[in-house]
Amino acid sequence: MAAQYEILSDAFNRLIVPDESLRKLGDGYEWAEGTTWVPDAAEEGGGYLVWSDIPNDRMLRWSESDGTTTFRQPCGYTNGHTLDREGRLVSCEHGGRRVSRTEQDGTVVNLVDNYEGKKLNSPNDLVVKSDGTIWFTDPPYGILSDREGHKADSELGANYVFRLWPDTGKMEIVIDDFDRPNGLAFSPDESVLYVADTGYELDTPEASIHAFDVSADGNLSNHRIYAKPTPGKSDGFRVDTDGNVWTSSGDSVQVFNPAGELLGKIMMPDRNANLDFGGPNGTTLFVGVNTEVYSIEVNARRAARP
Ligand code: MG
Repeated sequence: MAAQYEILSDAFNRLIVPDESLRKLGDGYEWAEGTTWVPDAAEEGGGYLVWSDIPNDRMLRWSESDGTTTFRQPCGYTNGHTLDREGRLVSCEHGGRRVSRTEQDGTVVNLVDNYEGKKLNSPNDLVVKSDGTIWFTDPPYGILSDREGHKADSELGANYVFRLWPDTGKMEIVIDDFDRPNGLAFSPDESVLYVADTGYELDTPEASIHAFDVSADGNLSNHRIYAKPTPGKSDGFRVDTDGNVWTSSGDSVQVFNPAGELLGKIMMPDRNANLDFGGPNGTTLFVGVNTEVYSIEVNARRAARP
């Protein structure tokens, strides 16, 4: 279907491709989340897309040559995925209440499932910094009911953002005052960390994408609200090479420049959750849209690819 845009800035015209169409890659999911492009030179199109269908406890895979196939089921009710610096898939598991890594031979290893002996809530989304540390959010969505995991009480009693050193298992809390931290990403030079909070009432200022300055040793300071998407809330986002933040929110993918100004929207047919850049040139945007997955060509590519 022809793509619909809301263009609020000339800069947005340079980020989209005129007369593009939304391409539906698949449907029939309960909640498509965690879209992540996995580069693979052996694949037609340069790689494949992986995503989660959380309530069905499965991960799916799409490639140009194979279409959509099951990647893993059951999968620990995975949510967000990303790649580490060696190109391995790292995943947040609601059901496993852990962060796991898929090795090159396909085995899945636990990276962390507790903090000081208390189970994590339900890791939601994650990003890998250039030093190899894994930064992830731990809201309670996977333990609130049996729909997206297993209903349980929180052992931590709080919803933290963590930094994990996967080689040693060392972990520390980097944010302790969010309601429900969700998507997160670094600016291209890693001097800024963006973190969405999907807690709070819809129209409160804190239900936004927040920003922090990041010091060379990874300490956060200068907490401020970066941008407030509307309608909806930001679930997941990626940053392009120019530092623009491409986020899901409600009815659209919304693009904010580094100053937090909304440049424009790519309208989606339903509420959307997560997105990633990929494809043969890195300029295909893949979006999980409720029960469907779509792609669209854009004129931007993701920063910080391994
Ligand atoms: Mg999320």
